Amino acid sequence: MGMKERQYLLNGMYTDMVSFSPHDKDVAMSLLTKVGEGVSGDDARVMSFDTLYALLSDEEKKIIERIIATDPTVYGFRGQCFGIAPVPDDLVALVGQEYCICGIKKLLQTQYLPAHAHQAYLRMNDAMDAGIGRRVLVESGYRSPAYQAIVFLRYLAEHTYRIEEALERIAIPGYSEHGYPNKQGMDFRVRETMFDNDDRPVPFGNTIEYAWLLEHANDFHLHLSYPEGNPYGIIPEPWHWRYEGGLI
Ligand SMILES: [Zn+2]
Repeated sequence: MGMKERQYLLNGMYTDMVSFSPHDKDVAMSLLTKVGEGVSGDDARVMSFDTLYALLSDEEKKIIERIIATDPTVYGFRGQCFGIAPVPDDLVALVGQEYCICGIKKLLQTQYLPAHAHQAYLRMNDAMDAGIGRRVLVESGYRSPAYQAIVFLRYLAEHTYRIEEALERIAIPGYSEHGYPNKQGMDFRVRETMFDNDDRPVPFGNTIEYAWLLEHANDFHLHLSYPEGNPYGIIPEPWHWRYEGGLI
Protein backbone atom coordinates (compact mmCIF):
# COMPACT_ATOMS: atom_id res chain seq x y z
CA MET A 1 0.00 0.00 0.00
CA GLY A 2 1.43 3.36 -0.95
CA MET A 3 1.70 6.21 1.48
CA LYS A 4 -1.18 8.09 -0.11
CA GLU A 5 -3.60 5.16 0.11
CA ARG A 6 -2.56 4.63 3.71
CA GLN A 7 -3.28 8.26 4.52
CA TYR A 8 -6.64 8.00 2.86
CA LEU A 9 -7.56 4.98 4.97
CA LEU A 10 -6.31 6.45 8.21
CA ASN A 11 -7.95 9.80 7.88
CA GLY A 12 -11.06 9.07 5.89
CA MET A 13 -10.05 11.83 3.55
CA TYR A 14 -7.24 12.41 1.16
CA THR A 15 -4.52 14.62 2.56
CA ASP A 16 -1.21 15.34 0.97
CA MET A 17 0.42 17.95 3.12
CA VAL A 18 3.75 17.66 1.36
CA SER A 19 2.62 19.41 -1.77
CA PHE A 20 1.20 22.81 -1.07
CA SER A 21 0.47 24.27 -4.49
CA PRO A 22 1.45 27.89 -5.13
CA HIS A 23 -2.22 28.75 -4.71
CA ASP A 24 -2.40 26.87 -1.37
CA LYS A 25 0.59 28.88 -0.18
CA ASP A 26 -1.16 32.13 -1.09
CA VAL A 27 -4.23 31.00 0.85
CA ALA A 28 -2.06 30.03 3.82
CA MET A 29 -0.37 33.43 3.83
CA SER A 30 -3.67 35.30 3.75
CA LEU A 31 -4.94 33.04 6.56
CA LEU A 32 -1.89 33.77 8.75
CA THR A 33 -2.19 37.51 8.10
CA LYS A 34 -5.87 37.50 9.06
CA VAL A 35 -5.22 35.61 12.29
CA GLY A 36 -2.31 37.93 13.13
CA GLU A 37 -4.59 40.94 12.71
CA GLY A 38 -7.76 39.41 14.13
CA VAL A 39 -6.63 37.85 17.41
CA SER A 40 -4.44 39.65 19.91
CA GLY A 41 -1.23 37.94 21.04
CA ASP A 42 -2.34 36.71 24.45
CA ASP A 43 -5.79 35.59 23.29
CA ALA A 44 -4.40 33.60 20.37
CA ARG A 45 -3.02 30.96 22.74
CA VAL A 46 -6.50 30.04 23.99
CA MET A 47 -8.64 30.62 20.90
CA SER A 48 -11.27 28.06 19.95
CA PHE A 49 -11.86 26.71 16.47
CA ASP A 50 -15.08 28.78 16.40
CA THR A 51 -13.08 31.96 16.98
CA LEU A 52 -10.54 30.96 14.35
CA TYR A 53 -13.07 29.90 11.72
CA ALA A 54 -15.08 33.11 12.16
CA LEU A 55 -12.07 34.93 10.70
CA LEU A 56 -11.52 32.62 7.73
CA SER A 57 -12.88 32.02 4.24
CA ASP A 58 -13.97 28.51 3.25
CA GLU A 59 -10.74 28.04 1.32
CA GLU A 60 -8.68 29.07 4.34
CA LYS A 61 -10.64 26.73 6.62
CA LYS A 62 -9.74 23.86 4.29
CA ILE A 63 -6.04 24.50 4.94
CA ILE A 64 -6.66 24.13 8.69
CA GLU A 65 -8.73 20.99 8.07
CA ARG A 66 -5.86 19.49 6.10
CA ILE A 67 -3.56 19.99 9.08
CA ILE A 68 -6.09 18.43 11.47
CA ALA A 69 -6.64 15.44 9.16
CA THR A 70 -2.95 14.66 8.89
CA ASP A 71 -1.74 11.48 10.50
CA PRO A 72 1.77 12.34 11.71
CA THR A 73 2.70 8.66 12.17
CA VAL A 74 2.86 8.46 8.37
CA TYR A 75 5.85 10.79 8.67
CA GLY A 76 7.56 8.79 11.41
CA PHE A 77 6.07 10.61 14.42
CA ARG A 78 5.85 8.23 17.41
CA GLY A 79 4.25 10.52 20.00
CA GLN A 80 0.86 10.04 21.63
CA CYS A 81 -2.50 11.03 20.15
CA PHE A 82 -4.67 12.79 22.73
CA GLY A 83 -7.50 13.87 20.47
CA ILE A 84 -8.91 17.35 20.16
CA ALA A 85 -10.62 18.54 23.34
CA PRO A 86 -12.62 21.78 23.68
CA VAL A 87 -10.98 24.83 25.24
CA PRO A 88 -11.59 24.51 29.02
CA ASP A 89 -13.73 27.21 30.59
CA ASP A 90 -11.72 27.40 33.82
CA LEU A 91 -8.41 28.68 32.45
CA VAL A 92 -6.40 30.80 34.87
CA ALA A 93 -4.17 33.52 33.37
CA LEU A 94 -0.60 33.78 34.65
CA VAL A 95 0.04 37.46 34.11
CA GLY A 96 3.29 39.30 34.73
CA GLN A 97 5.61 36.39 35.42
CA GLU A 98 8.96 38.08 35.92
CA TYR A 99 12.31 36.61 35.05
CA CYS A 100 15.77 37.98 35.13
CA ILE A 101 18.62 37.76 32.62
CA CYS A 102 21.95 39.10 33.84
CA GLY A 103 20.07 41.15 36.41
CA ILE A 104 17.74 42.69 33.82
CA LYS A 105 14.07 42.09 34.56
CA LYS A 106 11.78 40.84 31.81
CA LEU A 107 8.19 39.64 31.61
CA LEU A 108 6.90 36.42 30.10
CA GLN A 109 3.86 36.62 27.86
CA THR A 110 0.63 35.72 29.61
CA GLN A 111 0.27 31.95 29.98
CA TYR A 112 -2.78 29.89 30.91
CA LEU A 113 -3.48 26.74 32.93
CA PRO A 114 -6.74 24.94 33.70
CA ALA A 115 -7.72 25.62 37.34
CA HIS A 116 -6.82 22.15 38.66
CA ALA A 117 -3.38 22.17 37.03
CA HIS A 118 -2.82 25.74 38.22
CA GLN A 119 -3.62 24.72 41.82
CA ALA A 120 -1.11 21.87 41.65
CA TYR A 121 1.52 24.21 40.17
CA LEU A 122 1.04 26.74 43.00
CA ARG A 123 1.26 24.11 45.74
CA MET A 124 4.32 22.56 44.16
CA ASN A 125 5.99 25.98 43.85
CA ASP A 126 5.27 26.84 47.51
CA ALA A 127 6.84 23.55 48.55
CA MET A 128 9.88 24.20 46.34
CA ASP A 129 10.22 27.68 47.84
CA ALA A 130 10.04 26.24 51.35
CA GLY A 131 12.58 23.57 50.46
CA ILE A 132 15.25 25.36 48.42
CA GLY A 133 14.11 28.99 48.25
CA ARG A 134 13.36 28.83 44.53
CA ARG A 135 10.32 28.93 42.30
CA VAL A 136 9.79 28.04 38.66
CA LEU A 137 7.80 29.99 36.09
CA VAL A 138 5.41 28.57 33.50
CA GLU A 139 6.96 29.47 30.17
CA SER A 140 4.24 27.69 28.22
CA GLY A 141 1.00 26.27 29.60
CA TYR A 142 -2.28 25.57 27.86
CA ARG A 143 -2.27 25.98 24.10
CA SER A 144 -5.56 25.42 22.29
CA PRO A 145 -5.72 23.03 19.32
CA ALA A 146 -6.70 25.95 17.04
CA TYR A 147 -3.64 27.88 18.19
CA GLN A 148 -1.50 24.78 17.68
CA ALA A 149 -2.76 24.57 14.06
CA ILE A 150 -1.73 28.17 13.45
CA VAL A 151 1.70 27.71 15.03
CA PHE A 152 2.20 24.63 12.87
CA LEU A 153 1.11 26.40 9.68
CA ARG A 154 3.30 29.39 10.47
CA TYR A 155 6.29 27.10 10.89
CA LEU A 156 5.51 25.43 7.55
CA ALA A 157 5.20 28.77 5.79
CA GLU A 158 8.51 29.96 7.22
CA HIS A 159 10.32 26.74 6.29
CA THR A 160 9.21 26.15 2.70
CA TYR A 161 6.50 23.70 3.73
CA ARG A 162 8.79 20.86 4.79
CA ILE A 163 6.34 18.76 6.77
CA GLU A 164 8.76 16.22 8.27
CA GLU A 165 10.90 19.02 9.65
CA ALA A 166 7.84 20.82 11.04
CA LEU A 167 6.56 17.65 12.73
CA GLU A 168 9.88 17.20 14.49
CA ARG A 169 9.49 20.58 16.12
CA ILE A 170 5.79 21.43 16.40
CA ALA A 171 2.97 19.07 17.32
CA ILE A 172 -0.17 19.19 15.21
CA PRO A 173 -3.52 19.65 17.01
CA GLY A 174 -4.43 16.58 19.07
CA TYR A 175 -0.85 15.46 19.63
CA SER A 176 0.33 17.91 22.30
CA GLU A 177 -0.05 17.69 26.07
CA HIS A 178 -0.23 21.48 26.05
CA GLY A 179 -3.67 21.19 24.44
CA TYR A 180 -4.96 18.34 26.57
CA PRO A 181 -6.36 19.49 29.96
CA ASN A 182 -6.68 15.93 31.35
CA LYS A 183 -2.89 15.61 31.17
CA GLN A 184 -2.07 19.27 31.10
CA GLY A 185 1.47 19.86 29.90
CA MET A 186 3.48 22.83 31.17
CA ASP A 187 7.00 24.03 30.46
CA PHE A 188 8.93 25.40 33.41
CA ARG A 189 11.78 27.85 33.38
CA VAL A 190 13.98 29.22 36.14
CA ARG A 191 13.58 32.82 37.24
CA GLU A 192 17.18 33.85 36.73
CA THR A 193 19.61 33.05 33.98
CA MET A 194 23.07 34.36 33.34
CA PHE A 195 22.90 34.61 29.57
CA ASP A 196 21.52 37.71 27.94
CA ASN A 197 20.33 35.76 24.93
CA ASP A 198 16.91 34.15 25.19
CA ASP A 199 17.98 31.38 22.85
CA ARG A 200 20.57 30.18 25.34
CA PRO A 201 18.75 29.63 28.61
CA VAL A 202 20.46 27.69 31.38
CA PRO A 203 19.94 24.03 30.46
CA PHE A 204 16.97 23.28 32.69
CA GLY A 205 18.21 19.76 33.33
CA ASN A 206 21.26 21.17 35.14
CA THR A 207 19.34 23.36 37.60
CA ILE A 208 18.69 22.68 41.28
CA GLU A 209 15.03 23.40 40.53
CA TYR A 210 14.99 20.39 38.21
CA ALA A 211 16.73 18.20 40.79
CA TRP A 212 14.05 19.22 43.31
CA LEU A 213 11.26 18.47 40.82
CA LEU A 214 12.63 14.98 40.17
CA GLU A 215 12.43 14.27 43.87
CA HIS A 216 9.16 15.97 44.81
CA ALA A 217 6.97 16.89 41.82
CA ASN A 218 5.15 13.56 41.80
CA ASP A 219 3.73 14.43 45.25
CA PHE A 220 1.76 17.14 43.42
CA HIS A 221 0.67 14.86 40.58
CA LEU A 222 3.21 16.44 38.26
CA HIS A 223 5.07 13.99 36.04
CA LEU A 224 8.02 14.27 33.71
CA SER A 225 6.68 13.45 30.25
CA TYR A 226 9.79 13.04 28.15
CA PRO A 227 12.75 11.66 30.09
CA GLU A 228 15.85 10.36 28.36
CA GLY A 229 15.00 7.30 26.27
CA ASN A 230 11.22 7.89 26.28
CA PRO A 231 9.28 5.58 23.94
CA TYR A 232 7.88 8.47 21.88
CA GLY A 233 11.09 9.37 20.09
CA ILE A 234 10.94 12.86 21.60
CA ILE A 235 14.19 14.50 22.69
CA PRO A 236 14.58 14.69 26.49
CA GLU A 237 12.57 17.67 27.78
CA PRO A 238 13.45 18.20 31.47
CA TRP A 239 11.31 21.38 31.48
CA HIS A 240 8.09 19.70 30.30
CA TRP A 241 5.85 18.30 33.05
CA ARG A 242 2.23 17.25 32.98
CA TYR A 243 -0.42 17.44 35.66
CA GLU A 244 -2.24 14.15 35.85
CA GLY A 245 -4.42 14.07 38.91
CA GLY A 246 -7.88 15.05 37.81
CA LEU A 247 -9.71 17.72 39.74
CA ILE A 248 -8.44 18.63 43.21
ZN1 LIG B 1 6.13 21.41 26.53
